[in-house]
Amino acid sequence: MTGSTPAPFTADDYRARMERAAHAAGDAGLAGLLVAPGPDLVWLTGYAPTAVTERLTLLVLAPGRDPVLVVPTLEAPDAAKAAGAPVLTLRDWTDGKDPYAVTAALLDARGRFGVSDNAWAMHLLGLQKALPDSSYASLTEALPMLRAVKDAAELELMAAAGAAADATFEEIRKVPFAGRKESDVGADLAELLRRFGHSQVDFTIVASGPNGANPHHEVGDRVIRRGDMVVLDFGGLKDGYGSDTSRTVHVGEPTDEERRVHDLVREAQEAGFRAVRPGVACQEVDRAARAVIADAGYGEHFIHRTGHGIGVTTHEPPYMIEGEEQPLVPGMCFSVEPGVYLPGRFGVRIEDIVTVTEDGGRRLNDTTREMVIVE
Ligand code: ZN
Ligand code: ZN
Ligand code: ZN
Repeated sequence: MTGSTPAPFTADDYRARMERAAHAAGDAGLAGLLVAPGPDLVWLTGYAPTAVTERLTLLVLAPGRDPVLVVPTLEAPDAAKAAGAPVLTLRDWTDGKDPYAVTAALLDARGRFGVSDNAWAMHLLGLQKALPDSSYASLTEALPMLRAVKDAAELELMAAAGAAADATFEEIRKVPFAGRKESDVGADLAELLRRFGHSQVDFTIVASGPNGANPHHEVGDRVIRRGDMVVLDFGGLKDGYGSDTSRTVHVGEPTDEERRVHDLVREAQEAGFRAVRPGVACQEVDRAARAVIADAGYGEHFIHRTGHGIGVTTHEPPYMIEGEEQPLVPGMCFSVEPGVYLPGRFGVRIEDIVTVTEDGGRRLNDTTREMVIVE
């Protein structure tokens, strides 16, 4: 993941995030966090190297110590421009030096460290060699809620990304569907997301007719026909924060069954949304949505979790899934996206991003959830 993060955030904001992360690491029994280029580094420092290369770049956070960014010398001038740089110590290393020795000198030799999920294996192996008595844990597993609760400025960016996705839906419903390939409509979606301010498009699912019954289908060469249900699911990053919304449209007039299944998913989505309030376990959101579909006899056709967190990435903890007892906290943002998938026939999914408020939930997507008829 590369590209600059337009930062409404100041060095003080990044300092607060790094302090919170180091503190949380200590509470989790970790001696520190080792953060490679990617979403965690962007969130903690505002730094996204323009090219992620084999040269080691690593943020070292330890409770009670100043944060240090280990960075290749030739990248140091770029890193110094990051919004969080004023509150970081840059420790640069030149080609020919051992970056793992440089990093190891900053760490407890017998510590257990949280390492960002996307750190390169070669770097982790290099560190293990330099610090044979240290051990490591996946950062996301150790601190799943690190980025989950958004502050007011982040929520504004999330809402703006959601509004851009909604504007995309309002335009896509006007384009012709019948007679065009899924990939053509997918290209329209990508163009619209960019037009409405997205710098990165993560997915543009256009799943027509029987393809809609496969939640993993992206786009293909299938020519959309009159009578098709079409699942649209699209999103990406706008100003560093994610969007992700689904609506299921119908080309021409639907059958009674298609309308019934669509209404069922809409009711399930509504039930999931209404379950959202502080203190409720994530799994309750899943249960609320799933119960509606199961009670109608379609339980076996709802084949995925109800939702996932979203922020500086489009899929992250917390997950709305049976067994996740993490309580909801104001400021968390996640999807509520039940679906029904009828193999060989059609699928329906309706998805909004929802944020937890003091007394319930607020949708960050709000285009109509009624079935939209397209041409
Ligand atoms: Zn139909
Ligand atoms: Zn989606
Ligand atoms: Zn989603």
